[in-house]
Amino acid sequence: MNNKSKRDIFFLLALIVACAILARSFAGHETLEEYAKSHSSQASTGSSSAQASTEASSAKESSSESTDHSSAKDSSTESTSIENSATASSTDEVNSSVTNSSYIPYDNDVSDTRVTYSEGFYYEALPDSIITKITNVSYPKDCEISLDDLRYCVMLYVDFEGETKTGEMICNKSIADDVMEIFHELYENDYRIESIKLIDDFDADDEASMEANNTSCFNYRPISSGKKLSKHATGIAIDLNPLYNPQVKYKNGSTVILPSGSEEYADRTADFPYKIDQNDLAYKLFTSHGFSWGGNWNSSKDYQHFEKKNG
Ligand SMILES: [Zn+2]
Repeated sequence: MNNKSKRDIFFLLALIVACAILARSFAGHETLEEYAKSHSSQASTGSSSAQASTEASSAKESSSESTDHSSAKDSSTESTSIENSATASSTDEVNSSVTNSSYIPYDNDVSDTRVTYSEGFYYEALPDSIITKITNVSYPKDCEISLDDLRYCVMLYVDFEGETKTGEMICNKSIADDVMEIFHELYENDYRIESIKLIDDFDADDEASMEANNTSCFNYRPISSGKKLSKHATGIAIDLNPLYNPQVKYKNGSTVILPSGSEEYADRTADFPYKIDQNDLAYKLFTSHGFSWGGNWNSSKDYQHFEKKNG
């Protein structure tokens, strides 16, 4: 190739580059690709169909949320990421979904000892606030059981109005897993429990807690008719819906029914709600976890009472 041909080719290349620069400046510094992109996202049909599909998937997410308690956190996070990745034209929409995603299931001060069974169900070593609350109430100065052997349990339950409530209970660490499994199963099956509060909310007065139909476990006290320590004193016994499931004792030829107000429920042949018998779900769950039932005792009956055998 001679020098003239080289010059011609160079001139041709320079002309092509110059034309390209000229064309870009006429098009407002926008390549065809950029032009196509910017105009397609503004196209009304494309945008609305993308939005419709986003709404459809959000609707699907929220319907699964209503049937599954434990997936609430996951689905809210998922629907946020779907909206953010879509070509959402409204900034408000994105902002509101970000706000909704800041869901914190527990308080920030989570104990290292916490064992979470399921959302809303966990146990842990007694927090300081609980130790303060129970000291000299359900946990007297001369208490022979160590605080280290007790666990603070939190669970969900369905009350008599059908509302989900959060309950708290102190039990022995040896039955903490049983408590989680049993109460989770009761909750999932919509088993009705009126109240699950610490007995300290009743000044550690067992009678007052029973009258309020409160379900509870640990209380360092002797059995109601003697000096021997109750299984509640070591935190291995649970009283469930006690007003409808009274203690029935026979003493010197007379019958004592506790708590007062529960007399009509001492007749176990009668039909009434919240009655624990051998067909009851709570009975089945507790006995399958190795608990014995006070309703099966011979000398007296304690229909509210489940205690761990060899606990
Ligand atoms: Zn009991």
